[in-house]
Amino acid sequence: MFDSLSDRLGGVFDRLRGRGALTEADVRAAMREVRVALLEADVALPVARDFVDRVTEQAVGHNVLRSVTPGQQVVKIVHDALVAILGADESELLLDVTPPAVVMMVGLQGSGKTTTTAKIARRLSGRDRKKVLMASLDVNRPAAQEQLATLGTQVEVATLPIIAGQQPVDIARRALQAAKLQGYDVLMLDTAGRLHVDQALMDEMKAVADIADPAEILLVVDSLTGQDAVNVAQNFSDQVPLTGVVLTRMDGDARGGAALSMRAVTGKPIKFAGTGEKMDALEAFHPERVAGRILGMGDVVSLVERAAESIQQEDAERMAAKMAKGQFDMNDLRGQLAQMRRMGGLGALAGMMPGMKKAQGALQQAGGDKVLIHMDAMIGSMTVKERSKPELINAKRKIRIAKGSGTTVQDVNKLLKMHQEMSTAMKKLKKMGGIKGLMALLG
Ligand code: GDP
Repeated sequence: MFDSLSDRLGGVFDRLRGRGALTEADVRAAMREVRVALLEADVALPVARDFVDRVTEQAVGHNVLRSVTPGQQVVKIVHDALVAILGADESELLLDVTPPAVVMMVGLQGSGKTTTTAKIARRLSGRDRKKVLMASLDVNRPAAQEQLATLGTQVEVATLPIIAGQQPVDIARRALQAAKLQGYDVLMLDTAGRLHVDQALMDEMKAVADIADPAEILLVVDSLTGQDAVNVAQNFSDQVPLTGVVLTRMDGDARGGAALSMRAVTGKPIKFAGTGEKMDALEAFHPERVAGRILGMGDVVSLVERAAESIQQEDAERMAAKMAKGQFDMNDLRGQLAQMRRMGGLGALAGMMPGMKKAQGALQQAGGDKVLIHMDAMIGSMTVKERSKPELINAKRKIRIAKGSGTTVQDVNKLLKMHQEMSTAMKKLKKMGGIKGLMALLG
């Protein structure tokens, strides 16, 4: 996600950073490019305009232009503005009401509403240990209720028994009663979708909301539909008291504009991002991390979390501490490579690791995941000293390492360059305070 936007912005900022001094004209020219990049990414026009105006105003300030690292500062301003536009803080579900807390899911047909209902139910019942009941109110789409029941079985969450012919409002009533009587913490209502926004749909949503008094009303929108997603969100938020948005298909090659416009247009936070068809493909939406991803600074926190799922907790913490200090040696890189293989190869991690994005293109060209194995062999051929101090590796040592690992000096150079890029990116990230969230995460 955000690939093309990220590439475009990366180009603009590389040029800014590359210059020692910046004039107001340089900044303005760069901001014009940023504006075009945002519009091409499908960001709504007023949102892009506001964004660029805000950033320009701050960036042409004398303190910025006269500072030692003006380019870096401008990027930081853009980063912060991106975080602000995405909603600043992470937004949790607010379910702190007398149980059952009702979560009502709304959205157009095909947006991923039913899938997302089950994903959230899975998260609530697994991670948060809540007792969850799901009910489908979709009587329009054939087999919609059965679809939810099937997903319920899959994620081990109860669904309300289906009574053929019952209407949405009555199903909602029955679901509420069942949830109360049977002591459920959360009731998830998957409402009917339509192909387009229409009044009958809105009236039905309102009637259900009146009966169920939801703690959360989440709008599910398909991020791949770009500007349409923004229009749909506008329509829904005008008529239904939404509490948040879920963007699905963020795994697709969406241009990202929907995500960037959503908060500004609806005034409601994005709470989750759907990142695949599987039931675990749901991520809490962290504006800070997403802004980092867009600016190609990687998403260290998500990476560490993901890593923590597949490796020992201790390892993850050790790695995070090293990253935070800006120390990152060949042993760490080796650990990373092994994890990458475990976590599904290069593709899965692209864009998460600082500096990895650039390295990834080169790696793919060089043979994709096979390269990971070669790199492991090269690090295996290094001495203990070389691993902890890669700067020791001179021409002679490179030849030895290449021989020992059955690779070429060129391959060794590539590995060293990748390590260099990653550690630079991490230092940069640290300077910009992106590591704060990481430290908080690890307590
Ligand atoms: P509904 O009509 O809104 O209830 O949509 P569904 O939940 O039935 O989803 C429609 C299709 O989109 C299904 O094939 C889902 O597997 C798929 N889908 C839902 N969310 C995502 C997502 O985040 N990523 C991807 N790739 N597919 C998704």
